[in-house]
Amino acid sequence: MSVQVTTQNAIDMNPDLLIGGQWRAGSRQSRIPVVDPATEAQVGSVSDADVADALAAVDAADVASAAWEATPARERCEILRKCFELIVRDAEALAHIISLENGKALKDARGEVAYAAEFFRWFSEEGVRAKGDLGMAPSGKNHILVQYQPIGISLLVTPWNFPAAMATRKIAPALAAGCTCILKPATATPLTAYAVARILAEAGVPDGVVNVITTSTTGPVVSAILKDPRVRKLSFTGSTEVGRTLLREAAGQVINSSMELGGNAPFLVFEDADLDQAIEGAMVAKMRNGGEACTAANRFLVHRDVAEAFTERLVAAMSALTVGPGVEEATDCGALINPDAVLKVQELVDEAKSVGARVRCGGEAAQRTGFYYPPTVLDQMPVTAKMFHEEIFGPVAPVYVFDTEEEAIQLANDTEYGLVAYLYTQDTGRGLRISAKLEAGMVALNRGLVSDPAAPFGGVKQSGLGREGAQHGMLEFMEMKYIATSWGQ
Ligand code: NAD
Repeated sequence: MSVQVTTQNAIDMNPDLLIGGQWRAGSRQSRIPVVDPATEAQVGSVSDADVADALAAVDAADVASAAWEATPARERCEILRKCFELIVRDAEALAHIISLENGKALKDARGEVAYAAEFFRWFSEEGVRAKGDLGMAPSGKNHILVQYQPIGISLLVTPWNFPAAMATRKIAPALAAGCTCILKPATATPLTAYAVARILAEAGVPDGVVNVITTSTTGPVVSAILKDPRVRKLSFTGSTEVGRTLLREAAGQVINSSMELGGNAPFLVFEDADLDQAIEGAMVAKMRNGGEACTAANRFLVHRDVAEAFTERLVAAMSALTVGPGVEEATDCGALINPDAVLKVQELVDEAKSVGARVRCGGEAAQRTGFYYPPTVLDQMPVTAKMFHEEIFGPVAPVYVFDTEEEAIQLANDTEYGLVAYLYTQDTGRGLRISAKLEAGMVALNRGLVSDPAAPFGGVKQSGLGREGAQHGMLEFMEMKYIATSWGQ
């Protein structure tokens, strides 16, 4: 079976592993089914790698490494630019495959593909700007020369919620820096990753520079790669829980680690906010990907004076959304990734109700085929509700009320996470003052979206380590070398 959406590129629905430029079956000879969350039907399958396959991928990345590092930056970056162009060419096919295996609405999937492609354009421009530093030692006796070099073989582990963008946000800077890599996409959404890899090969990325493996035994396979002394970088996007486990494993070989982990974003609406703007932003911050985003607004903190007006409008906007299969044009909110996700959201909503929350719309899982949960708004939320502290990862908007600026900041920061915070006020000075006090790696001031390949994306506290995008994203794949030298006065 193949999805033929554009004439240029048919997507392989049953790909094998990609190791050293070869498509090959995993040693286990078994396959992992890929399920469409909208229909619960199997739509494809991928090969199931074991530890031997994982180590073969490290071998391939190692073999390709010296030549890729030695390839002039301009040449590497022209290949990256070509990757951008080909992803744009195949955008429609990629968007369909994302909708099919992830469940998200096509409009979200199209947005994701455009975002995913941009990482290649951005890093094709950054890759030729690798620079160093030159200074003089205070003693005046020698120069201090600082050079950036590729860090080495990189293991990239990605989640299912942005199957294309989370991969390209890592692959593009790794390649721009001169590294080779092994991508381990989420088992639920592997078809997009293989489709992207096929496009990269067509763009001229040499064999072995990008290897892709999928596995049903993630723990042992990832561990084996991290134990291989040739692997020098781990770049992970996923849950904080798995991030902690991988940090412990990476400690074994002291592997440089970048972590993009979970979030619990506050969305602050002050009494002087433009409510039309705030609702528009709220719908983006909450409903991009049906709420399955690390950046999803998880706690609406609204000043008492505007709480009812804001909630009423939010209920109207959420109730107007069309829920359905992601691949249908009319759909605003697709299915969640699997039945466990629906169960988790339902449990969080039921628990909130049991401690006093009121359901303003939605609030009950749909009785239909597919893993659906309806857009839901809860108000009268007590901060003791479990969802105040946990990622909801679904289309549920809980509204909490505050009275003072200090209380708003205290509530916003009352979480172990610190990825992003949203803030609405028409007083820019106040907005900037509060932004400085919010414990988050990113603040959206009168905006519902922060993601931008040209900006440093990442969290503080238990939301992560390091940044992706901007100049910083490439430095995550580079090692600094200091050379002490004297060449006379
Ligand atoms: P997850 O942590 O379950 O899985 C992420 C990846 O890790 C997958 O490839 C998975 O197969 C792998 N994995 C799982 N267990 C592993 C183990 N024991 N050893 C090695 N690898 C393992 O996360 P998910 O459910 O796929 O994604 C949702 C999570 O990702 C949410 O918490 C979300 O906030 C987070 N996320 C963060 C960002 C960010 O940029 N900060 C972006 C997207 C998603």
